[in-house]
Parts: sequence; C-alpha cells; structure tokens
Amino acid sequence: MSDLVLVTGAGGFIGGHLVGELLKTGRTRVRAVDMKPADEWYQRFPEADNRCLDLRRHDACVEAATGASEIYNLACDMGGMGFIETHKAECMISVLINTHMLLAAKASGCSRYFYSSSACVYAADKQTRADVAPLRESDAYPAMPEDGYGWEKLFSERMCRHFREDFKLETRIARYHNVYGPHGTYDGGREKAPAAMCRKVIEAQLSGADSIEVWGDGEQTRSFMYIDDCLDGTLRLMRSDCREPLNIGSDEMVTINQLLDIVEEIAGVRLKRRYNLNAPKGVRGRCSENTLIEQTLGWEPTVKLRDGMEKTYRWIHDQMSTPVFGRKVYA
Ligand code: NAD
Repeated sequence: MSDLVLVTGAGGFIGGHLVGELLKTGRTRVRAVDMKPADEWYQRFPEADNRCLDLRRHDACVEAATGASEIYNLACDMGGMGFIETHKAECMISVLINTHMLLAAKASGCSRYFYSSSACVYAADKQTRADVAPLRESDAYPAMPEDGYGWEKLFSERMCRHFREDFKLETRIARYHNVYGPHGTYDGGREKAPAAMCRKVIEAQLSGADSIEVWGDGEQTRSFMYIDDCLDGTLRLMRSDCREPLNIGSDEMVTINQLLDIVEEIAGVRLKRRYNLNAPKGVRGRCSENTLIEQTLGWEPTVKLRDGMEKTYRWIHDQMSTPVFGRKVYA
C-alpha cells in the first residue's frame, strides 16, 4: 500500500496546520488540495504535492485521491455563525465534496478516511440554556441539527458510516468543537468568535475607539479548542479503532463575555461593550462532553483557553500591523 496522505481543505485553517504536522512527524508524501488560488492558502509547504482543485467535482476528487492510502477530508464551504446562518444553501452544497470524496476513496482503495464533522450536528433542544449540560455523542439524535451546515454534516457523517458498513472503507469521524489558533480566518465574514474578538479589540486599539460590538448579550456559552489539541486528537482518532463519531473539543466552558475578558487582558485594554441582540448568535449554550474520548483514546484536549488565545492574539496582531498580500492593511 502506498504511503501517500491526502489532505483536502489544505489551504484553510485546520488543513494547513495538518499538512505541516504530517510533514513534521515524518510523512514524506503528502498531497495538499484546496480550491482557493495558491496565494490565498494560509500555509503552503513546498515539500507537499500542492494542487488547486474544486472537490465538488467527481473528476477532481478522483485526481486528488489517486494513490492515497489515507485521506483527511477537511474541505468545506464554511465559517462562523455570521456565515452559516446566512449561507445555508451554500453550506449544504458541501455534501458534493464528501459524496465525491467518498466515492473516489472507495475506488482508489484507500485504507482510511477521516471526516471533519462539527458540534453543529447536535440537537437544538439540548442547547437552549447558557448553563447547558455538555454534549455527549448520543445527543445528536433525535436529529435537529443547525439548519443548513449542521444537516449537511450529520448527513455526511452517516454517509461515512454506511460506506464503512457496506463498502468496508474504514472511516473516522470527529465532531470538532470551535477550533481556534494562528493561520486562520479573522476577518471577511467567515471568522469565528475567538478570532473575531481579537480582531475587534485590535481594531479598537489601532483606531482609538473606546467600545466594540458584541453579538448577542455575551452570556451565551461555548468551549474553544486550540489547534494543537485539534491536530493531536485528529491523528489519535485516525490511528484508533473508534468507528463512531467522537467529540474532539475542549470542556472548558466560558461565556462570550469571559472570552472577551481574556482578550482584553492579553491586549491590556478595557473597552465598553455594545451588545447587538439582532446579530447571529447560534445556540444559547454548547460545550464538549469528553467521557467517550477519554475512554477510547485515553486522551482529551489540554491547552487552556488563556494560553491558546495569547498565541492567537499575537498572530492576528502581527497580521493586522504588517502589510500582507491580498489582505487588508491596518495601522
Ligand atoms: P477553512 O474554511 O479554514 O478551511 C476549509 C477549506 O476548504 C478552505 O480553504 C476552502 O477553500 C476549502 N474548500 C471549500 N470548498 C472546497 C472545494 N469545493 N474544493 C476544495 N476545497 C474547498 O475551515 P477550517 O476551520 O479549517 O475547517 C476545516 C474542517 O473542519 C471543515 O470541514 C469544517 O466544517 C470542520 N470544522 C471546523 C471547525 C472550526 O472551529 N474551525 C469546527 C467544526 C468543524
């Protein structure tokens, strides 16, 4: 069997880090695929086989999968709440990516296939309170996931399961909970809360503003996982025998106000908060429950939010203070 690894969505946040990690840990043959033009990839490694392909197309998936023994399918048209609440049809079209990637993986004889699902598959009625009980894997059913994006993820999870049962393609499914870190989206409408908070605080500092807008009343709860933990969990899950969807997320639950407190402390400022109750807010409460991952992998995420946010803030601050090709220049 070939030792070629395919990572799709490699021009994006998690995919870019994953390619770097695979190369760092000794994989010499890594194919990195994304539809974005090469100069828009967050990270690009010359030693990888980098290709620009639109994986909604079956022929592109066949080209990407040819010769690969392992496939990490992270390609997806996605973003934070501001994007997924307003682009439901586009989110659902990502079903083409996973459908064609699974077919191509089956045809190419790949031995293991990873799918990046999301905490957005969890049923809405389990997330109505800020003091929510952390979400167990079984809480995805009876199904009532996030409209658009969550339904696509849940459907694709099941497709992975049935390809394993019917076609003997070994699939592994992670339900990521809010991943953050350097080399990701922090502006443009697809950013998620941790990066958005850093950007807003830095913008206020650079412009001299004394307040920032917060979506919702700031009391909605979430947990956030640093990218290093995401990579660790992903690689452990891929090597494991766990065939059921598994939470990969932090169980350190905070309110959005507490997340902002952390960013302000790192930045050394205090800003007035203008709460926009009409902005996209998502569910009221969401946090990962980690009993199953501890039982199956003997591991769970460990990076503290304060530590991960420090690194994330520094990277976003550098980006916004330095002219970068194709990006807005601040200062
Ligand atoms: P990202 O948007 O940074 O990366 C996704 C990449 O997929 C982008 O670079 C995009 O150009 C690429 N892509 C989109 N459509 C494509 C297509 N048709 N063909 C080829 N490439 C295409 O997102 P991310 O944060 O790195 O997320 C990676 C995966 O993890 C996604 O499947 C996402 O749904 C999942 N996930 C992420 C989070 C998170 O907090 N970041 C949480 C839950 C699940």
